[in-house]
Amino acid sequence: MANLVQGGKVAKRSFFVQLMVGLSELVMGVFTVSIALIADGIQSFADAGVSLIVWIGLRLSRKKPDKRFHFGYHRVETLSSIVAALFMATIGGITLYESYRELLSPTAVVDPLLALVVASVATLVSSLLLIYKRRAAEKYGSLALKTDASNSIKDVLTSITAFVGIALSSYFNIIQMDAIAGIIISLFVFTMVYPILKEASLVLLDSYHSPATITAIENIANSITQVKQVHSIRMRKLGSYLIGDMHIVLRNDMTVEEAHAIASQIEDRTIKEFDEIIEMNVIIEPYQEPKVSV
Ligand SMILES: [Zn+2]
Repeated sequence: MANLVQGGKVAKRSFFVQLMVGLSELVMGVFTVSIALIADGIQSFADAGVSLIVWIGLRLSRKKPDKRFHFGYHRVETLSSIVAALFMATIGGITLYESYRELLSPTAVVDPLLALVVASVATLVSSLLLIYKRRAAEKYGSLALKTDASNSIKDVLTSITAFVGIALSSYFNIIQMDAIAGIIISLFVFTMVYPILKEASLVLLDSYHSPATITAIENIANSITQVKQVHSIRMRKLGSYLIGDMHIVLRNDMTVEEAHAIASQIEDRTIKEFDEIIEMNVIIEPYQEPKVSV
């Protein structure tokens, strides 16, 4: 739980830094008439959006289930991912369209030196943020933060793209390069949209595919001597977490107390072994002696 709080703080800081970078680039982009810089600013906003989802998600994960939401609030993260992805797709589309229009009738960057300085600062800040988030993800073992950190690599790459575009367009007289950089950066935004939508849809459809995890859970149950058989292990995602149930077959002369102790043991060990699993329900079945025909 302490890790969730720390992870949330990292995501929150990341959100504000990206928002500031995006805003500065957007303002300076308009000021210097560089579509590449504007596109990179928008890309930073999109990235800030991802950090915001992680931040909200990590915050809401701590919220306890109540009378209305019996399974807790983990899927709020999934829903907000979809909303954010659609938002990103929209602004990505607008940037792409504007860059394309700029390509058709290119205009020179007004203050190229200033635009280059802004792009360099954006590259530097994004790189530092990436290192910070990577370290935090390692330290707190957060999958959401790790995903967020790998998204930030794109932030660094797009700022470099903006820098190169402005430089080529202003100092090498390839005036279209500013617009081309803008197009490349817009396409980067779309590469962020697809995996988010895919992942969120699979979570909503209760899809889960990891035979290795299922086998590991089966092994935990089988390691208890009284367990005669394990079957019907089912898992599903709840936000970035997992819940599931399974059947175990026990001797039919066991007391309710003994059987319950075994079920609890399996539940506890499964939750302890896998960080993502927050709930595991074990259903007990009595063992039937195979009928021997005489
Ligand atoms: Zn069964």
